[in-house]
Amino acid sequence: MTFDLSADLEERHRQHRYRQPQIMEGPCGRHAVVNGQRYLNFCSNDYLGLANDADVIRAFQQAANDWGVGSGASHLVCGHQRPHQDLEEALAAHTGRERALLFSTGYMANLGVMSALLGKGDGVFEDRLNHASLLDGGLLSGARFRRFAHNDAEALASQLQRSEARRKLVVADGVFSMDGDEAPLADYAQACEQHDAWLMVDDAHGIGVLDAKGRGSLFAQGVNERTQILMGTLGKGLGTGGAFVAGSQQLIETLIQFARTFIYTTAMPAAVAAATRVSLEKAQQENWRREKLAVLIARFRQGVRQLGYALMPSQTPIQPILIGSDADAMVLSNALRESGFLITAIRPPTVPEGQARLRVTLSAAHETEDVDALLVALEANAGTQHASR
Ligand SMILES: *Cc1c(COP(=O)(O)O)cnc(C)c1O
Repeated sequence: MTFDLSADLEERHRQHRYRQPQIMEGPCGRHAVVNGQRYLNFCSNDYLGLANDADVIRAFQQAANDWGVGSGASHLVCGHQRPHQDLEEALAAHTGRERALLFSTGYMANLGVMSALLGKGDGVFEDRLNHASLLDGGLLSGARFRRFAHNDAEALASQLQRSEARRKLVVADGVFSMDGDEAPLADYAQACEQHDAWLMVDDAHGIGVLDAKGRGSLFAQGVNERTQILMGTLGKGLGTGGAFVAGSQQLIETLIQFARTFIYTTAMPAAVAAATRVSLEKAQQENWRREKLAVLIARFRQGVRQLGYALMPSQTPIQPILIGSDADAMVLSNALRESGFLITAIRPPTVPEGQARLRVTLSAAHETEDVDALLVALEANAGTQHASR
């Protein structure tokens, strides 16, 4: 039989890696309801608590009244409506760049940029822990694909030095989605300048969250002028959905002409763009969201460390607890679930073998008492799996 799907599915089951979505019975926020049970939600990427914000909802509703639901076409046909244009201009201003371009998802933005800029004879250099969409984008582009050790600027520099590629593009997550740590962007910028390469940063987890004004990793690390391509997503810190690329006028014009995932797809609903403009304003102005997050992060890290669990070197709202074996991670995740906490166990192939972890994410939607309750539950379960100390 050519398509023997059952063998692959059974293999997944045997590896304990079979995945299934759970049905969420309410909006994303402090709590989650699953199967009629209410949990404290520590697994969303809604870091600023904007996904279910009343002002953002109102903007969405108003724009749906004014613009309908569907955009009706791709941007280059007749789908590019005024709210899309307004959001692009607001994102360009927010990120200190000449222009920004909307994409329907971050995954598509990454594939589109890399395929538009690179081809045979070019080289792409990626951190080995980069997001799947960056790895796929690099492979799809047809450029020579090289990976360097995680956050290792020296390894990158020596790869760049040896490369004879026509164009060289260095690509990294600003904040690593499963680790929460940050790329050494100033070192990368220097290596790129020395070896005539461009730097592209995927700041899906930094936009809205890092820097005093929420401008993300490039401002937090002072490398905005030295980074040619910024990709950001709207579905995490900004709480809506979609993505953008920001850079020079020339870069954006090039993407409009050559990025196939921009050209050949329907524009996101205008109401999503209008809602995002309000969530972006709130992210810029409501510093209390970032300040509250910082308090929650510090409290969580101090508490977890005292319990003897292994934290990762992260100052962001992504605070994984490193466990090790897949089975141990599942045991702890399930035990916490029974105590009323929704926290995903992240296992290979999403993370390297032997590095299964609980990916705890904090949000401005949480209260300090939520973090304290989680610490109590972690203490009660410290003995359920041996690799936790
Ligand atoms: C989530 C994520 C993406 C994909 O963005 P979507 O808009 O969800 O498709 C890309 N890169 C990173 C680092 C991400 O975390």
